[in-house]
Amino acid sequence: MMQKNKYRSIELIMEPGAPHMVGDGFRMHGFFPGEVIDKKRMSPFFLMDYNALIEFSPAKEPRGVGVHPHRGFETVTIVYKGSIAHHDSAGNSGVIRDGEVQWMTAGSGILHKEFHEQEFTRNGGPFHMVQLWVNLPAKHKMTAPKYQELTATNIVKADLPGYAGHIEIQAGNYNGLIGPAHTFSDMNVYNIRLNKGGSVEIPFNKDHNTGILVIEGAASFTDGETVAADHFVLFNNDGELLKINAEANSLLLLLSGEPINEPIAQYGPFLMNTMQELEQAINDVSAGKFGKLE
Ligand code: MN
Repeated sequence: MMQKNKYRSIELIMEPGAPHMVGDGFRMHGFFPGEVIDKKRMSPFFLMDYNALIEFSPAKEPRGVGVHPHRGFETVTIVYKGSIAHHDSAGNSGVIRDGEVQWMTAGSGILHKEFHEQEFTRNGGPFHMVQLWVNLPAKHKMTAPKYQELTATNIVKADLPGYAGHIEIQAGNYNGLIGPAHTFSDMNVYNIRLNKGGSVEIPFNKDHNTGILVIEGAASFTDGETVAADHFVLFNNDGELLKINAEANSLLLLLSGEPINEPIAQYGPFLMNTMQELEQAINDVSAGKFGKLE
């Protein structure tokens, strides 16, 4: 029998647009949501901001973004180079470095702040990271806030055959191995490290929205063109297999997840289903219901 659409095809390749600053510590290229990739196309991933590799000069005061609220989703911060400190009103804090991840569930509401870590601030150096906003299904939007730190000790590593490289599973599963992050809907988040000439085929549910950000190196997908670093590839929902070929030693961030087919209402740092819920969020922050953070 003929197998149709076995491999995923490319819907579009997006180059990084003009950057915007988040606070004074994060120089972000916004890939979505926007005019090219709308607010539902990569659901459950609502937003992806990318700090391409830059060099920060030494400083006395940590650069970053001060206390601000979130409700209705999760912020996922992935560091490739540099060091980021996090503090929130639920009493959680942590520092993550190269290859590590902060997975913060804002849920019913949290205040947090995100700054470069002290020693990195003093010394300066290369800085390279991603922040995702992962939407929560309506029934979990008001879940209790939570903080998960994914580090070298719990990120699950899958070696690929033929010395092609390896996959670091932050969330979801690959080849029977399960990543450490607890998620509220079905998704896969991996860093894929491939040696030049290495290739891998990864199976996915074809209905899951899937994209890859090329962090380092260059790669091609199925039989497509070579995609350079700092570009995002959005795949059509048309096949069960994704074929990746590394044209150089490469590091890729792969996102794939089951779409959340619910209305989206967003205002600033709140991601809810209705206007009324946004108004409630604003009122609850004013009333001090998100807790306290200095
Ligand atoms: Mn934030």
